[in-house]
Amino acid sequence: MKVTRRQVLTHGVTAAGALALGSAATLAAARWAGQGAIPATAAPGALLDDASRINPTAVRGVLFADPTPERTARTVAPLLRRIATGEDPAMAVAGVRHSMGGQSMLPGGWVLDTRPMNRIDLDRSAGVVRVGAGATWRELIPVLNEAGFSPKVMQSNHDFSVGGSLSVNCHGWHASHPPIASTVRRLLLLTAEGDVLTCSPTENAELFGLVLGGYGLFGVILEADLEVWPNAIYEPHFVSVPTSEYAARFAAGTAEMAYGRLSVDPLSFLEEAILVRFTPKPGTAGTVLPLTRPAAPELQRAIFRGSAGSGVGKSLRWSLEREAAPWLAAPMSRNTIQNQPAAVFADRSEETSDILHEYFVPRQRLWEFVRAARDVITTGGLELLNVTVRDVRADTRSTLAYAREDVFGLVMSFRQERSARADDRMRDLTRALIDAAAAVGGTFYLPYRLHATAGQVRRAYPGWDAAMAAKRRLDPNLAFRNGLFEAYGR
Ligand SMILES: Cc1cc2nc3c(=O)[nH]c(=O)nc-3n(C[C@H](O)[C@H](O)[C@H](O)COP(=O)(O)OP(=O)(O)OC[C@H]3O[C@@H](n4cnc5c(N)ncnc54)[C@H](O)[C@@H]3O)c2cc1C
Repeated sequence: MKVTRRQVLTHGVTAAGALALGSAATLAAARWAGQGAIPATAAPGALLDDASRINPTAVRGVLFADPTPERTARTVAPLLRRIATGEDPAMAVAGVRHSMGGQSMLPGGWVLDTRPMNRIDLDRSAGVVRVGAGATWRELIPVLNEAGFSPKVMQSNHDFSVGGSLSVNCHGWHASHPPIASTVRRLLLLTAEGDVLTCSPTENAELFGLVLGGYGLFGVILEADLEVWPNAIYEPHFVSVPTSEYAARFAAGTAEMAYGRLSVDPLSFLEEAILVRFTPKPGTAGTVLPLTRPAAPELQRAIFRGSAGSGVGKSLRWSLEREAAPWLAAPMSRNTIQNQPAAVFADRSEETSDILHEYFVPRQRLWEFVRAARDVITTGGLELLNVTVRDVRADTRSTLAYAREDVFGLVMSFRQERSARADDRMRDLTRALIDAAAAVGGTFYLPYRLHATAGQVRRAYPGWDAAMAAKRRLDPNLAFRNGLFEAYGR
């Protein structure tokens, strides 16, 4: 049977092929996985995909972590020994697989699903939570909430695992904060040798810097000690500004969270912006507050998805975002703001997928970048659905830092047909946007599609080759590999 490139992108290899792989893998996985809790989502030998929904990958099998770091290390160590002797293929480490370019998978390789490793232990007096790397923010937020705390830095949604968040070195829209690496006191790491090491700024410091933002290439994060932040009621403040004035008008001041949204309305495309700042209500910091669900998620979804494929829908959405949202917005707790699932806005169609990009640019050069990006996008033939702007401060911890000075991060969501032709167009568009970011001294984020050229990766991450040399020293058998390493590591 002839399999077209479109079928490979949207459906993967044939089910028969996947099953053949699966039967051998199931036996092997059962040998190593023992009786640990097995989440329903990924059977051993499965054909896996990630959040792109255009990346089907046949893997050798899925090995599941155990609830505790100690037992996970004992479960994984025998497989690491077999990988070292060449009896088994290498292993990719996975959290929730919300990356979009195979960073959490390896074709033909093993996948360690870390999600069962989700123990949470809060030290209230120290303001530090010890959390299993497989735990998601959705699991962690209610525990912190009960004690009047909140995550200090996380993404804008709660779906992701802590291990995945640390490995991409995520950021959110917390004002005046560097990415999450800045909040890590200590990590427990399983190395390629099968050793369990403590890593911190003072202990195994080289590994600490490599692992944070290291995309699972330097070991398995088993657990992390993260600083937490007082929960509080936040009052929202909205202001509309021309994008050309955004950088000058942005001042976090007393705001603890802040984001900008740029217009995708064809009538003011990328030229208008809304700046939203959240300031804490006096007397509420550190109190125990109700954790509520997002208001009217189906209505929010209908407005957002209704703008897909429609200029009129985008104009309507922009006028609601600019005129109605400030009137409707009510004070909300920090945890409620952070406790949002990405699924509210996700594309569920069979035909198209939402693909994220993110570019980080020096603050004063925001408008210069946006102007160049506008030209690239209007001729690129792909639909831009959403752009938010984040305040990301300089990261001094991560070896592969994307924010080497204070920057604005521009998160762009494009809607792409699930076809090879559209993916080729996306590749060209991505490369042009990376060049536009580089021209203003900016960088780009690595958890999304791997469309950058090798040269663009090295320009944005000047420490890349040294990090890959360190990988070969620390993991000489290349036990930990994934799509990112296959694309740029060699
Ligand atoms: C809808 C959506 C919204 C997003 N919003 C934001 C945002 O606001 N801010 C932001 O910074 N990012 C954002 N992202 C990107 C997101 O932070 C990353 O994709 C993140 O990795 C997702 O976590 P995960 O658990 O799905 O990780 P996965 O995709 O499973 O893994 C990501 C990487 O981490 C490695 N990894 C996972 N667990 C471990 C572990 N225990 N030890 C070692 N390595 C590990 C994997 O090997 C892989 O390379 C968003 C993504 C989506 C799809």
